[in-house]
Amino acid sequence: MTLRPQTRTVHHVLPDVSGSTPLTTPLYQGHVFRFEDAEALAEAFASPDGAFVYARHGNPTVRTFEAAVAGLEGGAAALATASGMGAISTVLHTLLGSGDHVIAQRSLYGGTHAALTDLAERWGVEVTFVSGQDAQEVRAALRPRTRVLYLETIANPTTWVCDLSALAASVADREDVLTVVDNTFATPLLCRPLEHGADLVLHSATKYLGGHADILGGVAVFRDAATHRRVWEHSLEHGAVLDPFAAWLTLRGMQTLGLRVARQCANALALATRLAAHPAVLAVHYPMLDSHPDHDVARRQLSGGGGLLAFDVEGGAGACRALMASVELASVNASLGDVRTFVLHPASTSHRQLTPEARAAAGIDEGTIRLAVGIEDVEDLWADLEQALHKASTH
Ligand SMILES: *Cc1c(COP(=O)(O)O)cnc(C)c1O
Repeated sequence: MTLRPQTRTVHHVLPDVSGSTPLTTPLYQGHVFRFEDAEALAEAFASPDGAFVYARHGNPTVRTFEAAVAGLEGGAAALATASGMGAISTVLHTLLGSGDHVIAQRSLYGGTHAALTDLAERWGVEVTFVSGQDAQEVRAALRPRTRVLYLETIANPTTWVCDLSALAASVADREDVLTVVDNTFATPLLCRPLEHGADLVLHSATKYLGGHADILGGVAVFRDAATHRRVWEHSLEHGAVLDPFAAWLTLRGMQTLGLRVARQCANALALATRLAAHPAVLAVHYPMLDSHPDHDVARRQLSGGGGLLAFDVEGGAGACRALMASVELASVNASLGDVRTFVLHPASTSHRQLTPEARAAAGIDEGTIRLAVGIEDVEDLWADLEQALHKASTH
């Protein structure tokens, strides 16, 4: 067919790439795929893992990312989302209906707490908060309409570690209750919740999986294909799907996940140990320290303490403000999981909406600083913290 210029501007001939394969995942930015006939399109439309149709249903770059995370977590399938909250809300809205009941750990990520509160106040879902430290308390909270047990492997910012095996076992005889675990802080390299009895694992890929502070993304990993299909169908309505370029950047970031996490764990342990011996520091919260309340669980369940730690400084909020104004290498911001080190004052930011009593119950003091440790040279990080601690204690 001989084409006129106006038609040629929009109909391109694609290269035939037979004979070799790209080593890295190509970025398929296109949102739509063409079919040879109507039957093939109809068949692909109804499946989460068939031919690609339309990018809200699936995209090759995004599916490569999903397969990569499913493989790391040991799941049957995964669903990528536009953010961690996209994964959390898509999953909760799929699994819960009016009149259903959730048992959730009290010290949750703020956005998750807000999502559950909203489901309770406006959608008729009932929520029981538990400590996350006691399997008996979970058993006692079970009701006929309980559908979800919601946990986080490592809690923010105290790094309390849930005993996933014990808690998942407490609902294991209820096939209608799914154990959902936010594994963002641990990454699949330090803990694989499915191996501990969880049914569904969530990540904010924005943090460690991406690792370079340049994407927003999320992912849900499923023990079984049937639940994946249910959540995928709902995700078509929710629409919080991952952009292919964000998937591509996250796949690129994940190639160094092992190196980054190993370095972050080593740096965090070294800093935690030195902070614990510092005269201006009242307490250090890091799972690999003997002094941590969940040290034994952490030793059993995690193959490293992770990149996050918290510490309480003498002098409360004023000292924290002085410390944060004095750090030069560490940057003051609300994220974590990056190659660079971040500091945050939870009482005035991530946990500001809690009452002082609720904050204390969550283990957060006015003088608590959260440190999300990067991959810098630990001696430079320590020098920065030491000079900032000195200024904070003399401010
Ligand atoms: C950041 C975070 C989320 C939310 O992820 P977004 O990508 O910011 O939407 C959920 N859970 C945990 C533990 C997080 O740190």
